[in-house]
Amino acid sequence: PRDVLRRLFNALDDAGLAEGGLAQYSPAHDMKNMRSFMLLNDFKLALESDDQLSLVYQPRIDMRTGACIGAEALLRWTHPTLGPIPPAEFIPSVEETALVRPLTAWVANTALRQIQAWNAAGLELKVSINVSALNLDETNFTERLLDAIDAHGVSTASLELEFTESAVARDSARVTEQLSLLRDAGIDVAIDDFGTGYSNLQYLQQLPASVLKIDRGFVMGLETSERDRTLVRTIIAMAHDLGYRVVAEGIETPIVFDMLRDWGCDEGQGYFMAKPMPATDLMLWTGKATIAA
Ligand code: C2E
Ligand code: MG
Ligand code: MG
Repeated sequence: PRDVLRRLFNALDDAGLAEGGLAQYSPAHDMKNMRSFMLLNDFKLALESDDQLSLVYQPRIDMRTGACIGAEALLRWTHPTLGPIPPAEFIPSVEETALVRPLTAWVANTALRQIQAWNAAGLELKVSINVSALNLDETNFTERLLDAIDAHGVSTASLELEFTESAVARDSARVTEQLSLLRDAGIDVAIDDFGTGYSNLQYLQQLPASVLKIDRGFVMGLETSERDRTLVRTIIAMAHDLGYRVVAEGIETPIVFDMLRDWGCDEGQGYFMAKPMPATDLMLWTGKATIAA
């Protein structure tokens, strides 16, 4: 009976999305849903384990000098039986549940411990962490983050929070209030994946954010698409006029790097400079690496 009901609800979901409101049970969708359901359950255990989750760090480069000035912390999950699970497969579903609170808390604490360790070793980097829309609805999100920063004895300037355009575009007083608190405390706020949402520019401009990260979809099209070139050049100019620092993500070739630098893009991330790497490797990488500008 459980199987029959599950299949029924699967078909019902599909029918809800289908034109005409009709759908037949699809074993493929059923499998996909069962897997995401299972992953979501297993993620709870991952948060309690001490060896399934880790952070990797992708260097962020000053486009003019080539110096590494920061790093983005990216979550990795190695499932005990399924192996590595791509972030795109589990993060969006976790982000729809209350589990996103412990997820972000885990990421923030791990990143803060890492900043502390790097500082002790003489490495000063600004670390960006990705934060979800739901985190902004938590009461005391900012307060608890500030407490954690304090407990680790690091500077608020060593942390940056990335929110997607859709997270901040939920035009609520809560969003503006939390972001203002963060900025007042000296924490940088970046708008991630810029250009993928449909936000009202006037609203975005009122948000207390200081960094705009151009979505890698546009950056990866720069060599082939005249339209993407126009868009990115325009975004950079507009963002500067509005007082943002501009970061490009997904820089994969020297040609794209040069274009962005010539257009005045401030900072960049991408496989051309470095892929995300474990913390110990980043230490070595910064020791020797500067990209010739
Ligand atoms: P994002 O925040 O936009 O992160 C950038 C993604 O682009 C990362 O994928 C990174 O590995 C990838 N990337 C960087 N440079 C290049 C490049 O040159 N070429 C290509 N093809 N890709 C590049 P990743 O690590 O798979 O993360 C995917 C998304 O998952 C992130 O997008 C972010 O939205 C989410 N995510 C990752 N870690 C966390 C986390 O700790 N918390 C939350 N809430 N979301 C996270
Ligand atoms: Mg990001
Ligand atoms: Mg992004």
